[in-house]
Amino acid sequence: MALEEYASKRDFTKTPEPGPSKAATHGHRFFIQRHDASHLHYDFRLEIDGVLKSWAVPKGPSLDPTVKHFAAMVEDHPLDYGDFEGNIPKGNYGGGSVMLWDRGTYELIGDETAAEQIARGDLKFRLHGEKLNGTWALVRMKGKGKGNEWLLIKKKDEASQPGWDVEAFATSVKTGRTQEEIAADLPAHPKKGSDQAKPKKKIHAAEPKQD
Ligand code: MN
Repeated sequence: MALEEYASKRDFTKTPEPGPSKAATHGHRFFIQRHDASHLHYDFRLEIDGVLKSWAVPKGPSLDPTVKHFAAMVEDHPLDYGDFEGNIPKGNYGGGSVMLWDRGTYELIGDETAAEQIARGDLKFRLHGEKLNGTWALVRMKGKGKGNEWLLIKKKDEASQPGWDVEAFATSVKTGRTQEEIAADLPAHPKKGSDQAKPKKKIHAAEPKQD
């Protein structure tokens, strides 16, 4: 069902990406990958009903609540995809390097299920990640288009950071590697690991806190 499109786009004898097997639901996890394919983008994934609901975000997420970034809803991915980091060989779907950029858990906001919120085109949740936290919304754009056009929006709260730049945090939470190091198949950074990937909060220390 939900993973047929995912499987139909990939030859699992040629890509190291996980197959479409449906693992047991673990709960409410989220994953974000930085994917240097034909165009650099971030893949935002939420664990919902046994799959990873996925959006491709060309400009990436932003902790700046004044920013609304375009997010194209793409095919569901298997839960095993969440931790994937590595290289999809050129010539395959999405060929290029994939960094595990952030991971954590989320809480839905509101009484509706995630499926109901997605059907309504307004999904609200709170992230507990290594880089991203606070309240967020994914809102489907109205009007013409393919129907897969959404916006990823940071709500104003204690986790908001005006002027935040996603590209200042471009290392893996899994291996500490840069995109170039992943592309070159270099080993994981031995000790630093996820510590190195954490946002350098001091950059914003002088700025007033948002409520
Ligand atoms: Mn991608």
